[in-house]
Amino acid sequence: MDDAIDHQISLDPGGRNCRPLYTAARETGGGPLVDRAADRLIAAIEPGATVLVSTGFPITPVDTPETDGPLGAAVLGRAVARLGAVPVFVVDSSTQPIMTAVAAALGLEPSRIVTPTAAETLLARDTPRVLVAVETPGRTADGSYRNMAGEDITHLVDGVDDLFIEAADRDIPTVGVGDGGNEIGMGTVNSAVETHIDHGETVAAVTAVDDLVVSGVSNWGAYGIVAALSLSVGENLLHTPDQERAMLAACVEAGALDGVTGQSTLSVDGLPSPIHEHLVGLLNRLCEHSLSG
Ligand code: MG
Ligand code: MG
Repeated sequence: MDDAIDHQISLDPGGRNCRPLYTAARETGGGPLVDRAADRLIAAIEPGATVLVSTGFPITPVDTPETDGPLGAAVLGRAVARLGAVPVFVVDSSTQPIMTAVAAALGLEPSRIVTPTAAETLLARDTPRVLVAVETPGRTADGSYRNMAGEDITHLVDGVDDLFIEAADRDIPTVGVGDGGNEIGMGTVNSAVETHIDHGETVAAVTAVDDLVVSGVSNWGAYGIVAALSLSVGENLLHTPDQERAMLAACVEAGALDGVTGQSTLSVDGLPSPIHEHLVGLLNRLCEHSLSG
């Protein structure tokens, strides 16, 4: 069943060429990508455990985050909260109101939302059990941050790569979700990004994670992990298509833009809301069929 989830989330209706990255991630060993990430989370989660979830990708020329990321982070955060853990969202100041609005639209209020600097303190003081990056800018080999057009966006990024590197040094597990190759976690499939993605050699992120989920839209990767978590614990932890639309409306209302078109529309990565609502409906159907059988 987890293979079916992987298939759903790695559809590429936006023509991003994410399939070779998916294949490369799959070749790093183990089963379906969502399965590995869900297993990692289940092993790490215990009552009261802190789970750090980062997100927020800025769009040029304005420093405004895109609609891909915050929704996935919110749904994943709510799922781990339902399993007894404490989700802490790590976002820069421009993403803060957007993350707050999206979490509230999902009924996740009040939740902890911290800056990358505060997260470093948290990592030092209050050891989180696992770190998850959902559509979070990843540093490239030359130290810069790049959007998918190859533009330098370093001045807009409050990077959290060091958080993930330090976590790895301290044997704290890390999970990453991405769709393009320039996100934290894509260091795991660095050479595939360079080979298969436009501007790959410029944009390829170098920060790796223990478990990478590659999806057609990063939000979908996070939803896929929640679907796999649902099957593991025997309870549907996903959101509904109506909640998907409500979160996206809240996200856009709070100022987020479509990362592909740059427009303030009810869309993610150039795909209008109904496509995301259908994807969420499909994942719910898969989960409920499996849980009832
Ligand atoms: Mg992306
Ligand atoms: Mg995306």
